[in-house]
Amino acid sequence: MRYTITFLEKQYQHLVAQLFPAGLRAERAAFLLCGISRTEEETRLIVRETIPVLDSELLEQSSHHLSIAASSFLPVMKRADQENASFVFVHSHPPGVTDHSQQDELEERGLFRTAYNRIDTPNSIHASLVFSDPQLPRGRVWLDGGSYESIDLVRVIGPRFRFYPRGGFDRSIDTSFHDREVRAFGADILPLLKGLTIGVVGAGGTGSSVFEQLVRLGVGRILIADGQDLESSNVSRVYGSAVNDVGMEKSALASRMARQIGLGTVVKHLSKPITYASVMKCFRDCDAIFGCTDDAWGRSVLTRFSIEYCVPVIDLGVKIESKNGKISAIPGRITTLMPGKPCLYCRQQITAEDVQQQILQELSPKEAEQQRRDGYIPELPGAEPAVIPFTTATAAFAVAEFLQRLTGFKGDDYDLGELILRFDETVVRTPGALVDPTCFCSDSSLTAKGDRVRFLDQTWRPE
Ligand SMILES: [Zn+2]
Ligand SMILES: [Zn+2]
Repeated sequence: MRYTITFLEKQYQHLVAQLFPAGLRAERAAFLLCGISRTEEETRLIVRETIPVLDSELLEQSSHHLSIAASSFLPVMKRADQENASFVFVHSHPPGVTDHSQQDELEERGLFRTAYNRIDTPNSIHASLVFSDPQLPRGRVWLDGGSYESIDLVRVIGPRFRFYPRGGFDRSIDTSFHDREVRAFGADILPLLKGLTIGVVGAGGTGSSVFEQLVRLGVGRILIADGQDLESSNVSRVYGSAVNDVGMEKSALASRMARQIGLGTVVKHLSKPITYASVMKCFRDCDAIFGCTDDAWGRSVLTRFSIEYCVPVIDLGVKIESKNGKISAIPGRITTLMPGKPCLYCRQQITAEDVQQQILQELSPKEAEQQRRDGYIPELPGAEPAVIPFTTATAAFAVAEFLQRLTGFKGDDYDLGELILRFDETVVRTPGALVDPTCFCSDSSLTAKGDRVRFLDQTWRPE
């Protein structure tokens, strides 16, 4: 089992400011309340809130030791119990003292025994982190019963995606196939990419192109889902496909392409769409997801997922507006979704009506047909136009946005939520947007919800 923890950037900054105030050298502390995501491979804590420990609640505080009053942690444990949260204790260390001390072990053993007694959150685990430097988080998970396991990775999601693997990046890996990339971004880029699990939702024109780029870049693990089989009209833009493949699952074609490239990418392909809960749940193992689906229901699921699991989603799509062979516009769109950012509803890229109509169509096609006859819902759209340079270029821009979040090559302040590539005008627009206060995404209590009884609190197809 792999243990990890995910912060949003502003939570991480808030925590670091609490632990390392200017000029102070004594140890300081804080608590975190976290949602939890458990899969077969990973147990992930997802930070909901950081709660500082006041200096008045420290019983003993020096550069080497600290002890905290029960009046400080009991109310936090009570909230964890009420809010189905995990409890995390964080403290700072002097520079160079990277790991938990023996004294920490004594203190924490009692603290986490109390946590398991007081917090009744089902399936929960509790954890502790120590920081000897803002860039050196070290953590462990205390299991029920008094043993503990290391936290393997700390993620920070924001303008940049930052990853702190335990023990740092593995510099011993062979870079010969990625020499030009390493020359561009430096030695850490390959171990960083190799350590990531990236999701690709949709294996069509944009999805297959994103997928091939991720494989060639050196991403370690890729999860790809698509419910459709290859049609003859797809071969003109689906990477890895050939005329003889018509009828094969698109996701399996992607998997085959990765094997043929031979860089050792671990690919898991799912031949159903993410509107099945069983499929979407697999994406809880991802560090980031590319949304390459062209349906409103799938996009609404991804929008919700990015908030409840704090997994960033780079959503992309291309529309060719053409009538009788005459093109009026070709916008390619790349939108980055994460908590606190305007979502696809805020940006009016999807609407609740579109999503409802699609759910009706897919779950009760007869009723949808009746409603169409009665004029309540519009006619089904026919096949949309699509052309390979536009799907490929949009995919390339999306992967470049991802590389920016990993490396900061456009500067640390770059944080654009959306790019619109107007191929017909040869311009790139960067529309600003605000979170709509009436949108579901403005409800901060949904951030880092993690696993709950009704996954993402929405309708799913029967499996
Ligand atoms: Zn300590
Ligand atoms: Zn929204």
